[in-house]
Amino acid sequence: MPNTSLTPGVVAGRLDPDAYDQNFADAHPPLDAHEVLVAADRCYFCHDAPCITACPTEIDIPLFIRQIQTGMPQAAGRTIFDQNILGGMCARVCPTETLCEGACVREAAEGKPVLIGQLQRYATDTVMAQDAHPFQRAAHTGRKIAVVGAGPAGLACAHRLAMHGHDVFMMDAHDKPGGLNEYGIATYKTPDGFAQAEVDWLLQIGGITVRTGVRLGRELSLAELREDFDAVFLAIGLAGVNALRAEGEEHDHVHDAVDFIADLRQAADKRRIAIGRRVVVIGGGMTAVDAAVQSKLLGAEQVTMVYRRSRDRMGASQYEQLNAVSKGVQIITGATPLRILGEGVVRGVEFAYTQESAEGLSTAGETFILPADQVFKAIGQKLEAAPGGLSLDAHKIAVTGPGRTTLDGVWAGGDCAMGGDDLTVTAVAEGRDAAEDIHAALSGAARVAAE
Ligand SMILES: Cc1cc2nc3c(=O)[nH]c(=O)nc-3n(C[C@H](O)[C@H](O)[C@H](O)COP(=O)(O)OP(=O)(O)OC[C@H]3O[C@@H](n4cnc5c(N)ncnc54)[C@H](O)[C@@H]3O)c2cc1C
Ligand code: SF4
Repeated sequence: MPNTSLTPGVVAGRLDPDAYDQNFADAHPPLDAHEVLVAADRCYFCHDAPCITACPTEIDIPLFIRQIQTGMPQAAGRTIFDQNILGGMCARVCPTETLCEGACVREAAEGKPVLIGQLQRYATDTVMAQDAHPFQRAAHTGRKIAVVGAGPAGLACAHRLAMHGHDVFMMDAHDKPGGLNEYGIATYKTPDGFAQAEVDWLLQIGGITVRTGVRLGRELSLAELREDFDAVFLAIGLAGVNALRAEGEEHDHVHDAVDFIADLRQAADKRRIAIGRRVVVIGGGMTAVDAAVQSKLLGAEQVTMVYRRSRDRMGASQYEQLNAVSKGVQIITGATPLRILGEGVVRGVEFAYTQESAEGLSTAGETFILPADQVFKAIGQKLEAAPGGLSLDAHKIAVTGPGRTTLDGVWAGGDCAMGGDDLTVTAVAEGRDAAEDIHAALSGAARVAAE
């Protein structure tokens, strides 16, 4: 008998084969040509456009919408890529409801913003569908820069440095470049291999050599990189995972949510991913929502997200919370896990209700048990290890200005560096700005040497 949502335990193939394709298809399919014009026509082209300020990469949004409206999508794409070379990915994954669209004057007036994300997707897709890469390299400088980490921060930095004529050597511990664009973002936000297609497109600039399967702290050392290169940019993200520190965490079918999501992203056939009948996700951020929603999409009967604080403190935006609820995920707030129950294999999780006060969070005494045959921990990522000699600030690499670390010639950006939201678009902005600073520093050094 085939498996269904009611089959006990953790099993694969709970759904009809066609249901997987439907569930993991593009969550926001592109607008058609008419819809694009209708959406562009709604823009007021505000003089002090708040949408620009709300975008971490400060894309000139009214300009690119005007370019779309006047039939110049190529120019619109160029306007976006000038500021954000991963504008295609950001169009798909940005929480626009809290960024540009959240700030749009039409959101404030009517509760219906201009569809900036969808228009951005239209413009960037148009440019990326062309054969020619829209940017060219400046004259060769002879400078060599190491970029460690090929996620959004590393890619944005590498592209900008290559544009300035430097030779970039990008190294990454994973088998494929892309960082969390490839291994983390929910499948239905970037289906059809978009993450790798975007990396391939970005590398068309030339001058960037990519080495995968090499890790800083194993095959690479910061001291050697500083010797061999004119500058180093660290964009290693947050590869470590916080421990739950609850009894029973070692039971079978208790996983880190990021590993589950990465396996799901890499699975050619989603039917082969085993999922529990009753799934409990511990955490309240974007990773928790993605793990919960995708568990539901794989056919779990009951999925419950449990967060220790109140709903307004959750890292996941209201939009994401609503999305989770609309997919059938139950959200419980104000409860913390005490122990994972079971003998070898998880059978449930015991939680205690919490209360928040000026002194912090404490348990209220009353407890409850949620039956579970699979548990995902999504309580935050952390820097795996501090690369040698670097100062840290709040467990991240300490930086000043556009990513300058405490070591000469070493910059850092993206999730691994202090400051900024942990978002794709923020990582892109930080990578780009660090590249400009590295370029300025190397150009200054070149001038001094020539004098
Ligand atoms: C599950 C999940 C879902 C998310 N969804 C969204 C979303 O929908 N929208 C959004 O805006 N943001 C989302 N984010 C956040 C976003 O993905 C990150 O903020 C962004 O990817 C950070 O970019 P980065 O380049 O700093 O790091 P990463 O993308 O993490 O890339 C770091 C790279 O460094 C490599 N690396 C790590 N350690 C080493 C080492 N020692 N040596 C060599 N290489 C190393 C890694 O292999 C990786 O390729 C999500 C995050 C997670 C975990
Ligand atoms: S705030 Fe809205 S209406 Fe104004 S320029 Fe930006 S997208 Fe257009």
